[in-house]
Amino acid sequence: METIRVIRGMRDIHPDQALWWQRMERRLADTLRRYGYGEIRTPLLEPTALFARSIGEETDIVEKEMYTFQDRDGSSLTLRPEGTASVVRSYIENTQWKKEPVSRLYYLGSMFRHERPQKGRYRQFSQVGVELIGSLEPAADVEMIDVMVECMNAIGLKDTSLQLNSLGCSACRPNYRDSLVVYLKQNQGDLCDNCRRRLDINPLRVLDCKAEACRRVADGAPKIIDVLCADCAGHFQTVRKGLENLALDYEINHRMVRGLDYYTRTTFEMVAAGLGAQNAVAGGGRYDDLVKTLGGPEIPAIGFAAGLDRILLKLQDTIPEPASPPNIFVVTRGEAGWRASLELMRGLRRAGVQVCSDVRRGSMKSQMKQANRRGARFVIILGEDELTAGRVTVKDMHAEENSDQKQIQVPREDLHGFLLNRLGLLEGVVG
Ligand code: ATP
Ligand code: MG
Repeated sequence: METIRVIRGMRDIHPDQALWWQRMERRLADTLRRYGYGEIRTPLLEPTALFARSIGEETDIVEKEMYTFQDRDGSSLTLRPEGTASVVRSYIENTQWKKEPVSRLYYLGSMFRHERPQKGRYRQFSQVGVELIGSLEPAADVEMIDVMVECMNAIGLKDTSLQLNSLGCSACRPNYRDSLVVYLKQNQGDLCDNCRRRLDINPLRVLDCKAEACRRVADGAPKIIDVLCADCAGHFQTVRKGLENLALDYEINHRMVRGLDYYTRTTFEMVAAGLGAQNAVAGGGRYDDLVKTLGGPEIPAIGFAAGLDRILLKLQDTIPEPASPPNIFVVTRGEAGWRASLELMRGLRRAGVQVCSDVRRGSMKSQMKQANRRGARFVIILGEDELTAGRVTVKDMHAEENSDQKQIQVPREDLHGFLLNRLGLLEGVVG
């Protein structure tokens, strides 16, 4: 029979890899908590219209990357390709602005985009996303960029650089758009088919195109920060000052318009060295009009999302792997030994220790082999002899072969204390 395989562009995460994910997620949650951000968990499925309306009909994501299908009642559903739209949908649905003037939210989870799979680019991938809703002030932009940088620091990501741009607002962007179209039309012959087609509908997208020829055209294009209105220019100036206060280095990238249509004013990206073409690890910006676009009041906001799969690729090249917690293996002899081991193991587990035994009930030799394979720090031996004598044999797998610490007889009632205290197991086990 033909075996069933994992879907192209999607992957299983096995336990040794999951240790990396768990450590990264723990550190992110801990950092975000310190900034006052609370976790929000929204469904993976949303009405298709949510993404069409927010991300924009003319974006790559909505045009060709969404996993969209019909529900049984005929309505159109989509697996979320990003997280901000869902957070805003929820924010509006819960009239959250009536409960708090400013909302600080984050999410962590899978996103789905039907892209060409390659290293660092998958069809199911994970993001952490952070949203700050309710402030028009540059203070919010600075907080958001600082949060992003500190999240990346907390998980140990190095060699990164920060890029910054402003996309203006509904007052100044139309003027920019017009002058951009004039410029792009003059250079139309050099653009890729896709960009030529989009020239009139969504010309800013051209600046974001990855095709080499389009990039060259984009490099010579008029720069939006030269034509910002006074409000947007002042806002951008204050954001830059705040970043300087935090001694955060950045460079201005005039081409950075981001791949989603809802962005306004400040946009930013973090890129990391050593990841080839997939070097953008995080990106975000203001989305001052999105709450209104999705049917809520006029409430400004800013946020970012970071791609955790990509970040992990880089971390695994640069930082030590997470240590697995110390563990114990219980080797039993005979039916009575096995039965006595059950309660002993439960007690140790309740005390916080990782304990395994051989559920295949193999020979002593094969049990010891398993203990070794699991990297057990201690092996407890429990058989008829030990039971009669009211003690167990503890083998310290780290001790020298002939030392008197290698194999110790411990009275049953002292075992917990012996393992937890004298052998210092408690540290690194709890917490
Ligand atoms: P890219 O330019 O690499 O396509 P993007 O601008 O589409 O990225 P965003 O939508 O801003 O990405 O998402 C934020 C982050 O999520 C990206 O910086 C990246 O790290 C990650 N990301 C986006 N798409 C994928 C993917 N298909 N696989 C893995 N990570 C991804
Ligand atoms: Mg993309």
